[in-house]
Amino acid sequence: MQQHLQNPIFKVLANIADQTKTEIYVIGGFVRDLFLNRLSKDIDIVVVGNGIEFAEKVGMHLKTKVAVFKNFGTAMLKYNDLEIEFVGARKESYRSNSRKPIVENGTVEDDQLRRDFTINALAISLNSSNYGDLIDPFNGLEDLEQQLIRTPLDPTITFSDDPLRMMRAIRFATQLNFNIDESAIEAIKAQKERISIVSKERITDELNKIILAKTPSIGFNYLFDTGLLHLIFPQMAALYGVEIIKGKGHKDNFYHTLQVLDNICATTDDLWLRWAAILHDIAKPPTKRFEEGHGWTFHGHEDKGARMVPQIFAQLKLPLNEKMKFVQKLVQLHLRPIVLAQEKVTDSAVRRLLFEAGEEIESLMLLCNADITTKNEYKIKKYRNNFELVKQKLKDVEERDQLRNWQPPISGNDIMQTFGLDAGREVGILKNAIREAILEGEITNNYEEAFNFMLKKANELGLKPITR
Ligand code: ATP
Ligand code: MG
Repeated sequence: MQQHLQNPIFKVLANIADQTKTEIYVIGGFVRDLFLNRLSKDIDIVVVGNGIEFAEKVGMHLKTKVAVFKNFGTAMLKYNDLEIEFVGARKESYRSNSRKPIVENGTVEDDQLRRDFTINALAISLNSSNYGDLIDPFNGLEDLEQQLIRTPLDPTITFSDDPLRMMRAIRFATQLNFNIDESAIEAIKAQKERISIVSKERITDELNKIILAKTPSIGFNYLFDTGLLHLIFPQMAALYGVEIIKGKGHKDNFYHTLQVLDNICATTDDLWLRWAAILHDIAKPPTKRFEEGHGWTFHGHEDKGARMVPQIFAQLKLPLNEKMKFVQKLVQLHLRPIVLAQEKVTDSAVRRLLFEAGEEIESLMLLCNADITTKNEYKIKKYRNNFELVKQKLKDVEERDQLRNWQPPISGNDIMQTFGLDAGREVGILKNAIREAILEGEITNNYEEAFNFMLKKANELGLKPITR
């Protein structure tokens, strides 16, 4: 194991441990990630004894500041770009109504036993008697090789003690592309209601980590199959299923959404664009209708979906800021490029899309591309071709008309001053007419043409410019 502990910090820690006759271990995620060849920026050190005191000695030696968290009995210091956290070895016992355990001092084994998964309970000794030895009482190494998420204790106890671990199990399975041990899955199914004692923020943290993984569908499938999704995000679980009337069915919108999400993850790391993929069809269940002689429709699901976004963000404690607005806009517009690609792609339609999407146009195009999940080769080809056409046109129109972040060349104020009007209906009519003329391509996007057009329109309304 010693060859893994190349960073000089480990020798520093080992020497101080020796001098102070303290037993210390590297533990948890850092050790796991060593074996997985993943880079890890945090090092967790378990001190058998007082973690804060030990950290202060290390801080003195390194002449660096130590952040002490008295309430948690932990201390942290920075060494180059590493964050090193010290905690006293502890033994934990839980009550039924809280995630917060009763804590006593313990041995390193006690401390490993309180860890969530066998792969997170691996420890490496930094003591001179057995420096570099792996301490692996629960066969975590074997589970790493088997790619298995397993709990050190009976999973029923592990998950009941701290139900956040159910989310963590699914999150690690997703990030590492591991399986969850069958008995742990059964335990999650049985304990899922206990997720209610976990704060929304912690749940959403884990959810976001799942969404930021390479293939988030792994996690969402686990969440759905265990029933957790129905509790933490029922609107998404409601996408599941196919209804058949008179031999007509529709696609399963849950699996479609997962496909779109995985698709978009291949093209972007942006959390919010990924959220837009999750939410793009969220209003399909509440807008679903069966129309005689036609089949299933989801009319207006983009509008209703956009209206659902703030409520879902609030429910999940996601930020109610411009990120939310971004997601909302993409949900609102997600059908537009595809509709365009199905019809004749006119300049004016492209101009309108660009005008409405503004800065979000690239994101919107990525979402729409990800949204093509048909298995029909012919249709895929047709859509993709038309899509390229839309993209090309967008580029042309953009270069020519500069409609992104468009401000109309004539403002409401200009109109009021020109005709001596107060704010009112006529100003709105004129503003609208100018915008429409530009979007339809009747006039180009510049002040002079817009001004002349305004004079003409105003004349039709019986308005004359005032002379100044
Ligand atoms: P990452 O930092 O990549 O998310 P990690 O394994 O380091 O992964 P942390 O949340 O940083 O995860 O926790 C560090 C260690 O603390 C874990 O490896 C695990 O041993 C332990 N741990 C964290 N949260 C829990 C928990 N809820 N229950 C039990 N042990 C936990
Ligand atoms: Mg960590």
